[in-house]
Amino acid sequence: MTSVLLIAESDEHGQINQATLQAVTAATDLGEAEITVVIAGEAPGSASSLAVEKVVTISAIESADVGIYEQVTADLAALVSSTNPDVVIFGKTDFGSVVGARLAFRVDAAFASDCIDISGTGKPVSVTRPVYGGSALAEFEIASSPAIVTLRVGAFEPSTVTGSPAVESFSSGTTAEQCASVSGTVVEAREGVRLEDADFVVSGGRGLGGPEPFSVLADLADVLGGAVGASRAACDAGWIDHSHQVGLTGKSVSPDVYIAVGISGASQHMAGCSSSRAIVAINKDGDSNIFKEARFGVVGDWEKILPPFLATVRELKA
Ligand SMILES: Cc1cc2nc3c(=O)[nH]c(=O)nc-3n(C[C@H](O)[C@H](O)[C@H](O)COP(=O)(O)OP(=O)(O)OC[C@H]3O[C@@H](n4cnc5c(N)ncnc54)[C@H](O)[C@@H]3O)c2cc1C
Repeated sequence: MTSVLLIAESDEHGQINQATLQAVTAATDLGEAEITVVIAGEAPGSASSLAVEKVVTISAIESADVGIYEQVTADLAALVSSTNPDVVIFGKTDFGSVVGARLAFRVDAAFASDCIDISGTGKPVSVTRPVYGGSALAEFEIASSPAIVTLRVGAFEPSTVTGSPAVESFSSGTTAEQCASVSGTVVEAREGVRLEDADFVVSGGRGLGGPEPFSVLADLADVLGGAVGASRAACDAGWIDHSHQVGLTGKSVSPDVYIAVGISGASQHMAGCSSSRAIVAINKDGDSNIFKEARFGVVGDWEKILPPFLATVRELKA
């Protein structure tokens, strides 16, 4: 039996987010697992139908008074000490990456980030994660207890199974020391689907030659109901905002289809998209690395390929 603490997050509509539902699948796949979902603040309505044993709410709500993530880390550390789980799972979101690492430090446990698989009954837990910028996958056996992991968003299907967990609250009785305060919050302007949640991603690189072609990519993404991504070279050139960057130092995406236009396929870029179900490459250099990763590829100038492709997709969708 593996005891799992799964740290949940809400989406912009106040419901349990996709990363959490995917983590429920991963935890359930462990086999004989006793899963407790932990929610900071008030539990969303959808929490009461999760297919897990228990939902525990902790009072920690981030505010300027208690500092960024400090209270939630303190409460989780107390919960881990009192429940002694085998594994603590976060989604690899901004929240999971920051709080997971802090929690591991507080409870003196191993931390494995960006895992795409997890297995094991009880201890030790084994995880698989990309290494060397996504060029290889490594398996790690985590001997420490608990094992604290973040799971790559999109690596598991979201759980659709329903249940009726017991709902409890937990209070650590501690007030975290304030070491930072929030001086302002900027909400990223976005139209349409989030890059990390998109089933179709149309990404552009240096081969586009400038910012204007990104409007063609946006048109294609729009018709497909997807989102626009970019290589770091395109973002660094100022052609598109860094919030679109895919890769090692950008976002990780796992869409059904990833269309890479004028992108060479450097390992640091592939680290963010190699778990896509199908990669389609458009590149004028047939020896480009992207073709080693792509399921479908077109060798040629994007300017000749993309407009008729867009027109055909529009026709088929009409
Ligand atoms: C620590 C570190 C972290 C990094 N993190 C990231 C990251 O998160 N994301 C990321 O993307 N990169 C990252 N990089 C950078 C990465 O190494 C590459 O430099 C970058 O991905 C290259 O971007 P690109 O493919 O757009 O450009 P290039 O490598 O210059 O490739 C451009 C491609 O466009 C093709 N092309 C040119 N003209 C056309 C045309 N008309 N039609 C079709 N194809 C054309 C060319 O054949 C070429 O293959 C990182 C690097 C380091 C060192």
